[in-house]
Amino acid sequence: MESYLLPDISQPGKTGCTLPPLDVTPSELPPRELLRQDLELPEVSEVDLVRYFTHLSRLNYGVDTGFYPLGSCTMKYNPKWQEDIARLPGFAEIHPYQSADSVQGALKLMFELQAYLAEIVGMNATSLAPMAGAQGELAGILMVKDYYQAQGDKKRKKVLVPDSSHGTNPATAAMCGFEIHSVPSDTKGNLDLKSLHSLMTDEVAALTLTLPTTLGLFDPQIAEISQLVHGRGGLLIGDGANLNSLLGRVKFGDLGFDCVQLNLHKTFSTPHGGGGPGSGPVCVKPNLAAFLPSPIVTKDDNGYSFFSPLHSIGSLGAAYGNFGVMIKAYAYIRSLGAAGLAEVSRDAVINANYLKEELRADYHLPYDRTCMHEVVFSGKRQKAKGVRTFDIAKRLIDYGFHPPTIYFPLIVEEALMIEPTETESKQTLDSFIAAMKAIAREVEENPEILHAAPHNTPVRRLDETTAARQPDLRWRMSEEKSKL
Ligand SMILES: *Cc1c(COP(=O)(O)O)cnc(C)c1O
Repeated sequence: MESYLLPDISQPGKTGCTLPPLDVTPSELPPRELLRQDLELPEVSEVDLVRYFTHLSRLNYGVDTGFYPLGSCTMKYNPKWQEDIARLPGFAEIHPYQSADSVQGALKLMFELQAYLAEIVGMNATSLAPMAGAQGELAGILMVKDYYQAQGDKKRKKVLVPDSSHGTNPATAAMCGFEIHSVPSDTKGNLDLKSLHSLMTDEVAALTLTLPTTLGLFDPQIAEISQLVHGRGGLLIGDGANLNSLLGRVKFGDLGFDCVQLNLHKTFSTPHGGGGPGSGPVCVKPNLAAFLPSPIVTKDDNGYSFFSPLHSIGSLGAAYGNFGVMIKAYAYIRSLGAAGLAEVSRDAVINANYLKEELRADYHLPYDRTCMHEVVFSGKRQKAKGVRTFDIAKRLIDYGFHPPTIYFPLIVEEALMIEPTETESKQTLDSFIAAMKAIAREVEENPEILHAAPHNTPVRRLDETTAARQPDLRWRMSEEKSKL
């Protein structure tokens, strides 16, 4: 294959652009000692450059290139026409500091989206301000803190978090100065009620609960949990990042939650990953409405405007949140309607259960019950043969699939957390199942091939810790080859 690396295609004198002749007086160059002599810039033509970047983009794997069953992340396919809607000039070209009367259409969209989200989760008020799920969680816990402060209740210094929870849950509560207490799960994967009874004292401000749990399970004790928490003066805070499985069917408000954050970029269709963009609105019951982050869009006889709730925890960023993501969520909800949203959750749950049934003979299923939008297997049988879940994940890349989430939730040994989402066909699921079965056979017959996987990728196994802690983001032409 022809090389696409810049050091190979760069040639002195090649250029990718033509400039018109200079028609102004050239300005002076900066002093010589300030000019860099060693700047290595490639000299390439336009077609070279297009091929170079296209080549780089094809080294990446995304939901547009294949199945992406990353548990707890809802990497579903997002229809492209929503991008067109988000790019309509009336939305894309407005400025956050324009006067409210010049952006009434945008405010109307936000106002209606606030109401749709509140309706979908059975709550009374919404703030669209948080720009990620974790920031929505932060908003929730800050509201809890101010809620008790406003009541003069100084003893509630603890937040309870299930041991299966997403890492952001305890991290958020700790950031807000609460003491974290972990509530164990029982053998079925539900919250252990006995432990909750003893932990739930009048020093507990809130229980943060992901539902379905991070094991992909619906906790049927939720009414009892809500009663217990509220009976002792606490608040029940939901992590609604996994709403894909409940859409159009089950409402957090009806289950007793006081507050829930939604991940619009997961459930409501915005391509995400690699750092953004996100949106994590919070929806609350009347008891917390006065504490919502600002601004909120309101409507009166003069039209739509922003306001800050009476005891607002304040703003979470420079402006109003990630408006582009709100547009896509709005378009998604309007296009599907209530019946369409219920189909999303039905298909998400059927797909996960299909994978569970087809793979249960090959991989250990620690919680053998109907799952919700994702299924968690354990690679402990394979581990007994010397193959780790990490090896299985790497081998899946050779079969053309993005690996599932691994080693999470922490309470499952060698966890493999698979979320197929509702946008995948039976045909795609069947190819994934075939790959997982082939890998299970390789564990028996040829484990070596797993230890060395992936075999077909431009880079093999990376030192992930160094990559995360000491990223080398500098590009130098002379170093390009050695990095690949
Ligand atoms: C993704 C996720 C989060 C965090 O959301 P971000 O938008 O990545 O900050 C929190 N909780 C759960 C259960 C999640 O799946």
